[in-house]
Amino acid sequence: MFEPDLDTWRTQARQWLATVLEPASGPDTTAEDADLAVFHDLPEDEERRLLERCRAYQRARFDAGYQALTLPEDKGGAGLTAAHAAIFAEEESAFDVPPSTELISVTVRLVALSVAVFGTPEQRAEHARAFLRTDLLACQLFSEPGAGSDLAALRTRARREGHTWVIDGQKVWTSGARFADYGLLLARTDPDVVKQAGITAFLVPMDAPGVEVRPIRQMSGGASFNEVFLTGVRVPDRLRVGRPGQGWEIATTTLAFERTASGSGNRRKGGTFEDVLALARSLGRTDDPLVRQRLSDLYVRTALRAATVARVARTSAAGGRPGPEASLTKLMASDLLTRTGQVAAEVMGARITADTGEPGTFAWTQHLLGAPGYRLAGGTDQIQRNLIGERVLKLPPEPRGDRLPFSQLPGN
Ligand SMILES: Cc1cc2nc3c(=O)[nH]c(=O)nc-3n(C[C@H](O)[C@H](O)[C@H](O)COP(=O)(O)OP(=O)(O)OC[C@H]3O[C@@H](n4cnc5c(N)ncnc54)[C@H](O)[C@@H]3O)c2cc1C
Repeated sequence: MFEPDLDTWRTQARQWLATVLEPASGPDTTAEDADLAVFHDLPEDEERRLLERCRAYQRARFDAGYQALTLPEDKGGAGLTAAHAAIFAEEESAFDVPPSTELISVTVRLVALSVAVFGTPEQRAEHARAFLRTDLLACQLFSEPGAGSDLAALRTRARREGHTWVIDGQKVWTSGARFADYGLLLARTDPDVVKQAGITAFLVPMDAPGVEVRPIRQMSGGASFNEVFLTGVRVPDRLRVGRPGQGWEIATTTLAFERTASGSGNRRKGGTFEDVLALARSLGRTDDPLVRQRLSDLYVRTALRAATVARVARTSAAGGRPGPEASLTKLMASDLLTRTGQVAAEVMGARITADTGEPGTFAWTQHLLGAPGYRLAGGTDQIQRNLIGERVLKLPPEPRGDRLPFSQLPGN
């Protein structure tokens, strides 16, 4: 594709956005239902309505050529640089973008990209395209009760029977599984090699016989993620993504896409510096020197994060696959989210413990209850630090005692 210069691109993006979205209205401290949720927490009918709003915008983006900006053209993307994508995100944030849901992000920014990168031409045409356009929605079936940070220890098994794979196992923390058409699943297909080498990825239809989704009730009151049980689920070989044994490469690439989406994405997640400032003003706390100090600290960290995101975007080559720098922006984003909640709680004082009826204050509980989850999703803070230490700073790796075939590891 012809690569527009960045100024032309900015103007073009802004003009298109103005045709489909209203300008952003800014922080609204008076709204009772201000959208400060980190993870959505809605009853089923409202969740479906929100999904439809999100899908309408994602379809418009896809049809206008603004989806998957950095994915190479031969994989179905626009083939632009990360700087183009960052500019689009900046311009987008000046508009009233429908609040996205976890499932939309997982579909568009994780699963679609991985299927586009690793899938067959048929999978790209049939599935990746439909995921990018959100005609089909896809969840991420990676984590298991005994495999979170140590994802390569997963135990869900897939056994080949001719042109079919038979899958048995359990996944957990699957965001949006109830509304998904497919799940990108990792399964062990060869237990006799080291754990990372014996994993294969599949697209599993969520309505296949043997797939059972059980919602998990969260402390925030909602049930945005789920347990997924798989019993004798039969999946045709044409839904295998990548080669048998390539699952770990697909998993790490998908997780890097996830960290990029979490760290650099502009989807509104929880409250921001502007929201805390507006809160402090509305409660008359901005003359308190301690509050001013905390607000300044938050402002500086917000600016630092934005500068890091921009720097990563400038230095990332076009080509679709993010590197370990995705861990930097993810870590900064989760740290900022946690601190934002802490400062909001300090500004509110005792008001944080109950709904006092003061406008906009109770909405902060959604932020405070959701922020801890953000430090886990997509790899915990500690795991990001390990990745930064080993892959960015090139420090000596953690000692590892698991270089044996998976079947010879203790407990197998
Ligand atoms: C909101 C949310 C949404 C999620 N959505 C999905 C989803 O859609 N699909 C999916 O597959 N998964 C999902 N997850 C799961 C998520 O990927 C895992 O929670 C995460 O990888 C951590 O795994 P764990 O919960 O098993 O914790 P564990 O791995 O058991 O970790 C426990 C603690 O030990 C620490 N720890 C573990 N190993 C190390 C180490 N080597 N060095 C230092 N510290 C270590 C961790 O940092 C953590 O503090 C979601 C999680 C959350 C919170």
